[in-house]
Amino acid sequence: MQILPTLHGIGRAFLAMATLTFATLAHGAGASPDIRLYALDCGHLHFQDMRMFDDSGALDGKHGDMSAPCFLIVHPKGILLWDTGLGDAIAADPDGVELAPGIRATVPVTLVSQLAKLGLKPSDIDYLAFSHWHEDHTGNANLFGKAIWILQRKELAAATGHTPPPFEPLPPVSAWRNARKRIIDGDADVFGDGTVRLLLMPGHTPGHQVLEIHLAHAGNVLLSGDLYHSRENRQLRRVPRVNTNRAATLASMDRFEAIAKRDRARVVIQHDPRDIALLPKFPDYLH
Ligand SMILES: [Zn+2]
Repeated sequence: MQILPTLHGIGRAFLAMATLTFATLAHGAGASPDIRLYALDCGHLHFQDMRMFDDSGALDGKHGDMSAPCFLIVHPKGILLWDTGLGDAIAADPDGVELAPGIRATVPVTLVSQLAKLGLKPSDIDYLAFSHWHEDHTGNANLFGKAIWILQRKELAAATGHTPPPFEPLPPVSAWRNARKRIIDGDADVFGDGTVRLLLMPGHTPGHQVLEIHLAHAGNVLLSGDLYHSRENRQLRRVPRVNTNRAATLASMDRFEAIAKRDRARVVIQHDPRDIALLPKFPDYLH
């Protein structure tokens, strides 16, 4: 009877060592803290014509639906919110609003009510980061004036310089002016332990980025931002018409795929409802 706990202990030590080695290989960092990744429903988009998502013309005249999620990363050192969705104001109308001709946005459940389910208020969010500053990713940004905003310098410059379209007018993200900020140029390690990293992948916008998270049990997860808008667009390397630099987008796709392969990462295409449906349903989470 005495030997069992000892063997168990050795097994645990071996597992811990293996985990440490894996984490070191993948990230150059230490052990894996317990991190939770929640996918929140931050709205849905319906397009009468998907033409803006493929510059080859293959989607011209086809309708389609997209998810617009937000993600909450709960780390022992703080809470990061990745993207803020379409905006809780849209939830007031169950039929949603028309953002532009042929583009309808609906928000069936508010971000604030989902945070409340976890016992959180917007002011409890420590860090805020965006894949990019388009209105389906910044809708609730101004709720988070107490957070530290981690911003790509190039994205901020492009958005505040009002060039080029299709950046939305600044009011939905105006809280950036008075918020505490961490301005970055390139990749960034949010918590300093290699587990949650912003990876600059420009092209869709000048400072577009994706998020990689190392989870102790679920492994590596890559949140795509708008590098890809659907699984098919990923398979076919489609570049959207709504894009600032075609060559940069293709280079970002190459980098993304190399990282996904190296880290054996689970890729979540944020705008593809099929990828969102495969994630644990909130308030469940990956960890
Ligand atoms: Zn988007």
